[in-house]
Amino acid sequence: MAERVSIETATFGLLGPLAHTPTRTMSVHCVIFRIGERVILLDTGFGTREMLEPNRYLGSDALLSLGIVVDVRLTALHRLAARGIRAEQVTDIVLTHLDADHAGGLHDFPGATVHISAEELAAYDEPRSRKSYHPYQVSRQTTLETYGPSDEQWFGLPARSLPLPRDLDAKLIPLPGHSRGHRGVAYRENGQWTLHAGDAYFDARINFLDPPPGLPLEIAMQADSCDRVASLSKLRELRDRHGLEVAMFCAHDYQEYISWTVGRGRADPVDVFRTTLP
Ligand SMILES: [Zn+2]
Repeated sequence: MAERVSIETATFGLLGPLAHTPTRTMSVHCVIFRIGERVILLDTGFGTREMLEPNRYLGSDALLSLGIVVDVRLTALHRLAARGIRAEQVTDIVLTHLDADHAGGLHDFPGATVHISAEELAAYDEPRSRKSYHPYQVSRQTTLETYGPSDEQWFGLPARSLPLPRDLDAKLIPLPGHSRGHRGVAYRENGQWTLHAGDAYFDARINFLDPPPGLPLEIAMQADSCDRVASLSKLRELRDRHGLEVAMFCAHDYQEYISWTVGRGRADPVDVFRTTLP
């Protein structure tokens, strides 16, 4: 019998500000899929290791340049516990990419199978290819499922379906540029598609201008400028052509996060931070 998939979103971290935009706080917008007792995450945010020893695991450069709020209560492990979910219930984690603010929390869920693009894992395995890849995130014990190109299409974009439970329709959508193997993750909820665009854009009000100005953070962090701009164009086209059929949000646009969660009546308990952080 089909099991109902319950979908919630949460921010597993806070960063910011993103200079020159109205965005002062940045979310780490992640998704929690519940199918019975089983839980599947889309991105993890930072983990407990980074929050408990930030100088050691994140370093002063990242703390300062990204404005990372250090509080272990923001981690996926703690946010899930607040919802009554145990770490052992997390069987799978789908990642947009392997930067620490998206994959840092992997070590808190050692039993989960990690789903990632083959290109992203290859980039991660190259020595010193990216400062925000941390070597301790993926260990020999990590169970990995990698995905290369396929002939599948989704609203005119290349896609790769994920072998998750039958009732959870989810696909990796190549949006390279921020990192080499960066992917959006599309999923269907009650027949409606949503695309988590990861870090393909940072601020919906700025990045969808035509042409978009370059934001310092996205340029500083990009693996390939041409790929990043091309991915942004694809998203603009998707929004123009299929905006009614596909909802979209990214990881770090806090206004998007607020409107998405409040609009759905599912504000995260971490909202206590809103009283102290703008
Ligand atoms: Zn990020």
